[in-house]
Amino acid sequence: MAYGLQDLFNLLYLIDSSESEPARKAIERRKLDALLAYCEVTDCRRQVLLRYFGEEMPAPCGNCDTCLEPAATWDATTAAQKALSAVHRTGGRFGALHLIDLLRGEATEKVLRHGHDKLPTFGVGTELDLRGWRNVFRQLVARGCLKTDLDGYNTLALTPRAWPVLKGEERLALREERKSAKKTKKRRVSEEAAAPLFGHEARFEALRAWRMKVARARGVAPYVVFHDRTLRELAARNPSTLEELAGITGIGEQKLKHYGNAVLKVLKGVEA
Ligand SMILES: [Zn+2]
Repeated sequence: MAYGLQDLFNLLYLIDSSESEPARKAIERRKLDALLAYCEVTDCRRQVLLRYFGEEMPAPCGNCDTCLEPAATWDATTAAQKALSAVHRTGGRFGALHLIDLLRGEATEKVLRHGHDKLPTFGVGTELDLRGWRNVFRQLVARGCLKTDLDGYNTLALTPRAWPVLKGEERLALREERKSAKKTKKRRVSEEAAAPLFGHEARFEALRAWRMKVARARGVAPYVVFHDRTLRELAARNPSTLEELAGITGIGEQKLKHYGNAVLKVLKGVEA
């Protein structure tokens, strides 16, 4: 749940602006859609995964995160209908922020300019705040009721899947946003970033450059090689033997075997 609408648009932009063939881009977009849907799942994840591969599992697995800690959901049918009808009545040519202004009855310059204050949907959504509506729109995208358009304005438009919800034929249970989750993560990240290097910057930077090279060569994300935390600890403790290396957080047997000597070499190079 640690992603927002903007992250979606960023990912879409990356896919769209790549030099891949159109067919390849379509595949990437479908993969992203499937991933999003998977993130917002409120039932057993294993059941959902197997269904994706054409298999049915009769009972929930009892072991995945949604089985162990069922997601709190709320009946978002009415909210979803309001959001979707705001999209419909404005012709699918506007982004989430404008639609939220419209729903919340904010007479912004843009709302007035388009005459959207005259729409029946104007001001029908005061029960949710900006964050609440963003959450609704994001999950509607993830469920395939809305599609995103990269015309430079991040507009949202209806898909055929929106109609059963709009017509009241389908009820929609959405995940309740865990208010603390994002905050906790942010705090942790900023603390990590702020941890002082006490003059070990040169070693840290050398390790980072090395990590980038390794990550590129292996085609993985840098944190898969080593977390920043590990690099910081390496920079601060400056180990010179494999035994010392083994005592660093995030360096297990495998990593020691794969990267141990290379890391020692990088550290030695900075000293020289
Ligand atoms: Zn499960």
